[in-house]
Amino acid sequence: MITDQKIKEIKVHVINIPAKAVHSHGSGDVANINSVIVQITTDSGLTGWGEAAPWPVFTGTVEANAAALHNYIKPKIIGKNPLNVEAHLTMADNILVHCSEAKAALEVALLDIVGQTTKLPIVELFGGRHCNSIPLSFSVANQNFETDLEDISRLYNEGIRLFKLKTGFNEHSFDLMRLEKLRKIYEDKISLRVDYNQGLKAYNAIRILKDIESFKPEFIEQPVKKNEIEALAEITRIIDTPIMADESVFNPREAFIAAKMRVADIFSLKIMKSGGIRRAIEVASIARAAGISVYGGCMFETGIASTAGAHLMAAIPDLTLGCEFYMPTYYLQEDILSKPFQVHEGQVIIPTKPGLGVEVNLDVLSKYRVSLFS
Ligand code: MG
Repeated sequence: MITDQKIKEIKVHVINIPAKAVHSHGSGDVANINSVIVQITTDSGLTGWGEAAPWPVFTGTVEANAAALHNYIKPKIIGKNPLNVEAHLTMADNILVHCSEAKAALEVALLDIVGQTTKLPIVELFGGRHCNSIPLSFSVANQNFETDLEDISRLYNEGIRLFKLKTGFNEHSFDLMRLEKLRKIYEDKISLRVDYNQGLKAYNAIRILKDIESFKPEFIEQPVKKNEIEALAEITRIIDTPIMADESVFNPREAFIAAKMRVADIFSLKIMKSGGIRRAIEVASIARAAGISVYGGCMFETGIASTAGAHLMAAIPDLTLGCEFYMPTYYLQEDILSKPFQVHEGQVIIPTKPGLGVEVNLDVLSKYRVSLFS
């Protein structure tokens, strides 16, 4: 009986993969992808994969998430039925505060097993797909703008039309210069977005954003600090361009508060913030009820987490602003998936195979592994 399976083994791999370039953000620079890969096997012979992709300035650390999975979650689920996903997530919430990335990794690995058991892709477990592909947004965050311009030109020719400029890590005049140049070259042929990653001071954010608005960004993401939600609400009220909350909205509870206070016009959904696909859909439901749009965000991830994100986003009925799962294709020096994460003519292709629908290249995984807990 398929319902009789048991979790037999859990391996926790900590990996570190160099990136193709250093990316700069309002909250710091990133040069590699340091994440935690969880591998769950069952007594029925199935393997489920999940990923915790933390960022210390945003969600948490790899050390905390590896320990969460190995020391706290693993002893509670060995021998248990992998199909009881919500029960295991509730358990994880009860025994462990924070570590939403570890909880996402656990959930995705379990859903991978549920999908393989039922022979359904993960998206079909959440009401079915609303689309077969989603427009990809690329984040422009090089320290050298000339390199960015070359990247954008190449990506434009590949079909990408959504570009998100990381702002607030340098002078305001540098941001204005880059926006002006991009509008001059591409006019309205691309959708430009800006992301401050909390980089502005609340006292003069509105003045700065009024300058930025003249270059018609489609949205402005997280201008001020995570906890400055009153300032964020004020910015949303005054600035005409839609404001997106990313760092300020992690989970359903924060989404509820943010919706009530009208902190933003858009929420960025990320499985690493919400603690998995189920909770991200709960955030999306709160957003929809409040007339707030959602967007497919990501952290510094390999193809495992990006694929999970693609399943999530395809299950959201009113996703209109695209998704940013560009890391496996354009940022990592090498991904751990045997078959590349699928991007075609500027669109992320939604997987169709059962479960997560990925195969992990074990040689590449061990090549970049810095520690293993098993
Ligand atoms: Mg962001």
